[in-house]
Amino acid sequence: MDLLKKRILEDGKAIGENIIKVDEFLNHQVDPVLMDEIGKEFKRLFKDSNITKILTIEASGIAIGAFVALHFGVPLVFAKKTKSLNIDEDVYSTSVYSFTKKTDYDVKVSRKYLSDEDNILIVDDFLANGRAALGLVDIVCQAGAKVKGIGIVIEKGFQEGGRILREKGYRVESLAVIDHMGNGEIEFKS
Ligand code: 5GP
Repeated sequence: MDLLKKRILEDGKAIGENIIKVDEFLNHQVDPVLMDEIGKEFKRLFKDSNITKILTIEASGIAIGAFVALHFGVPLVFAKKTKSLNIDEDVYSTSVYSFTKKTDYDVKVSRKYLSDEDNILIVDDFLANGRAALGLVDIVCQAGAKVKGIGIVIEKGFQEGGRILREKGYRVESLAVIDHMGNGEIEFKS
């Protein structure tokens, strides 16, 4: 998605060799015009998948998910991060290793909001090693729902998440795939 790539080059900041900050427009301050285009693009890519719900993870996925959900005309559900996994019968839950915080955390989704009749599009801001997406896949599977696709705004193609998810057979669509970062430079896969 050219508009997104242009914005990443203008306002994104490469931190070392594997973290990129996009606080300016994606996950601290949010550009609604760009978000709307992102929502439109995911709708174009998954329009034939009969999506019934969008699923993401708090906090950075929420703004993106809301715009995507608006374009599909379906609800957004976001997995909530929680300190402890108490055995609560009313939730689907799983544990996720955080790329940015380097620690495990638990996430949960109320059983009220996912069912075995749902076709789910998972969305997130970044794909690095795939732990967040795999956690969301686990939650969808617990609900007996179907993962119809995984929509990522920025995939770091040099980390293993994309390969792992695609090898498992999931359709992963990333709007910008970074091939390489370093010395403050960002290069995209063409
Ligand atoms: P993964 O679970 O695929 O290893 O990492 C994805 C999650 O970590 C995303 O939900 C995202 O919030 C965070 N993340 C991974 N890489 C980056 C990055 O380079 N920049 C930012 N801001 N967040 C990232």
